[in-house]
Amino acid sequence: MEPVVYVNGKFTPRSQASVSVFDRGYLYGDGVFEGIRRYGRRIFRLDQHLERLYRGAKTIALEIPLSFDELKEVIVETVRRNGLSDCYIRVIVSRGVGDLGLNPCVCRKPTVVVIADTIALYPAEVYETGLNVITCVTRRSPVSATNPEVKSLNYLNNILARAEVGRAGAHEGLMMNQEGYVVEATGDNVFIWRGGRLITPPAYAGILEGITRQVVIELASDMDLPLWEAMLTTHQIYSADECFLTGTAAEVVPVVTVDGRAIGDGKSGPVTKRLMARFKEVTATEGVPVG
Ligand code: PMP
Repeated sequence: MEPVVYVNGKFTPRSQASVSVFDRGYLYGDGVFEGIRRYGRRIFRLDQHLERLYRGAKTIALEIPLSFDELKEVIVETVRRNGLSDCYIRVIVSRGVGDLGLNPCVCRKPTVVVIADTIALYPAEVYETGLNVITCVTRRSPVSATNPEVKSLNYLNNILARAEVGRAGAHEGLMMNQEGYVVEATGDNVFIWRGGRLITPPAYAGILEGITRQVVIELASDMDLPLWEAMLTTHQIYSADECFLTGTAAEVVPVVTVDGRAIGDGKSGPVTKRLMARFKEVTATEGVPVG
């Protein structure tokens, strides 16, 4: 049976699901989105993802036409109808159909789409062998422009950096903010283990405050691993004992080289491995059940 996609109140077979070419999401990347995971019977951290979506929508002055609980029910129903036990859920809310001008006021009805599908961000073996990462020339958008804290549909900044990664033949890329501090990867957050503490850049550095990042911060506290939210220089990363990335699609994934420098001994480190194992346990036991 063909999978269905939720589009504005209706479940439509995937091959027929569509939105208008006048949709602002298509014309301008004007909207917000979320990427959420289902593990087994449960949707992981659904409330936190939706809280981030509603917060981002508020910042871009977009009123989501469904209440928090209604949207939650739509997501659960989309997942139920698709019957995939492990899947990736994409929730997209754009400002809807408008004209070719920029004025957002002409858009009367936001477009809401929910897709359940599979995703594999990195090849399976890198969870053992680790990622080779570069630092990208493309800088992260400043918080005073399109603030990275809003998970907006406008991902060109990240896509340009991701294209550099492809050209360099690497697995992933780290992005710096305008001041030259490393803030995050093209679609993941970054952590290092250095001098006996975990360090990850703070939200105000200009990052998307990842849900997976938050889970890792909680795990670090449970495991008595000291954690600092601090700016990271490339020097601190090159000389870290361990480095890993976090994200909904990526989960927790080790980084073994950055710009050709081995991180630590160039292998996935013990702290990263322990966090990966704890992360697996948490995703297997927590979440909103899908009936
Ligand atoms: N940073 C960026 C730029 C992202 O797009 C994402 C999500 N793919 C993340 C970080 C990680 O966020 P989360 O853990 O909520 O998926």
